[in-house]
Amino acid sequence: MNAPWSVRITQNDWHALAAHLFPGDRDEHAAILRCGLARTPRGNRLLVHDVLYAVDGTDYVPGDRGYRKLTPEFVLEAAESCADDELVYVAVHCHGGTERVEFSEIDMASHERGYPALLDITDRPAVGALVFARNAVAGDIWLADGTRVPIDHLQVLGRPQTRLHPEPRRPAHAGEAFDRQSRIFGDRGQHILATQRVAIIGLGGAGSLINEYLARLGVGEILVIDPDRIEMSNLSRVVGARRGDAWSLLTTENRPEWLRRIGRRLSAPKVKIAARVAREASRTVTVTAVFDDVLEPDVAELLLDCDHIFLAADSHSARRLVDALTHQYFIPNTQVGAKVSLVKDTGDIADIFSAVRASVPGDGCLRCAQLINPVLLQEEAKSHGERRRQRYLDDDDVPAPSVITLNALAAAHAVNDWMMSITGLTSDLVEPHRWITIHPLTDEIVEYAQRHHPSCPNCGLGRFARGDARRLPTKVR
Ligand SMILES: [Zn+2]
Ligand SMILES: [Zn+2]
Repeated sequence: MNAPWSVRITQNDWHALAAHLFPGDRDEHAAILRCGLARTPRGNRLLVHDVLYAVDGTDYVPGDRGYRKLTPEFVLEAAESCADDELVYVAVHCHGGTERVEFSEIDMASHERGYPALLDITDRPAVGALVFARNAVAGDIWLADGTRVPIDHLQVLGRPQTRLHPEPRRPAHAGEAFDRQSRIFGDRGQHILATQRVAIIGLGGAGSLINEYLARLGVGEILVIDPDRIEMSNLSRVVGARRGDAWSLLTTENRPEWLRRIGRRLSAPKVKIAARVAREASRTVTVTAVFDDVLEPDVAELLLDCDHIFLAADSHSARRLVDALTHQYFIPNTQVGAKVSLVKDTGDIADIFSAVRASVPGDGCLRCAQLINPVLLQEEAKSHGERRRQRYLDDDDVPAPSVITLNALAAAHAVNDWMMSITGLTSDLVEPHRWITIHPLTDEIVEYAQRHHPSCPNCGLGRFARGDARRLPTKVR
């Protein structure tokens, strides 16, 4: 695949690596990144799994040809561990300067001497090197087929998100349509929005709002996924849905059931409505509408190309899949929802809340927070008919209470937080990525710390940064 190469790293690893490379002595320092690999039509991404720090004077010593070099022992041990753990070997060191950087001739010559052997030892599709200045990075990736490619950028996934290139890039003027908002985050911020590919899973109340917000913000590509058609009872919440989309003349309550059934079959898929809304809002957006279940393997595969996933579907299997994508493929996600819980016997309202839970790789996950119910996971794996027959879910067909304003609270907070983060406006001094629930009955906003268990199958080390080397929890093909 000729798609560009890039590197993704968690904010924690980046802070530690930057402290190691730039301790303030203006000298050169080095490390080796062990990376998972994700290859898609849109790009090849190296995902930093862990960092082996070279100790100055022991592992990083005066060189015979260049200024410094990694000792053969350090290199060999790292390469063999990459072979054992199926990770890509990427050597890094730093140069002086801040805004631009490139390899020296001596660096390139050392790659030519060493990398064919490293490809052999690690037995991976690639091996490579990065060189850093304080705010810049350049890369030289060697592929097993003999080609050499530079890297386009390194992305630090945190809050705010930052991107390093070999040299500064000047974004084009944002244009009149975005004049008011680009006064907040500048042409650079608008350019970042325009280059994003964002997925929305679930185009009901919350998802339809997120879709509208993203399109109007000027997001370049939106992928919308939902297997459902619009119903009369959705019209109060789904943005852009028209009565005609739900065939209201046929499906209204006083019609005979056979007629209503025809009406329901003719009704518009929710993704089709979302695509119409987005295209009416933005001249430049590209919308991909997938009228199918996100757990189908070929649908889930479309998510691998995304920069962010908004999860607005009320399914525990989708929660598990999105968690896995975030930690395995380094694609951040925000889960949004609104819930009205009722007292069992009386039917009185017990609580009302809107929830927003944003996660980046290295954070905890919904499973660790006990927000994925294993019983429901098993139930969802069964067909609708099976569920009916076994009647495990007694409220299967009882619709949950819902209202557009609760969805709007969650959707606006979720998109706003993401937008602030990717355009670099969020302060990196605040405690990042709190999960919140907003409770209108008591006028409270509750924050939750994330939980993370190292052995977790979704966010633990077995899946973390593994990219294409692990299977995703989709349906079996
Ligand atoms: Zn160098
Ligand atoms: Zn977890």
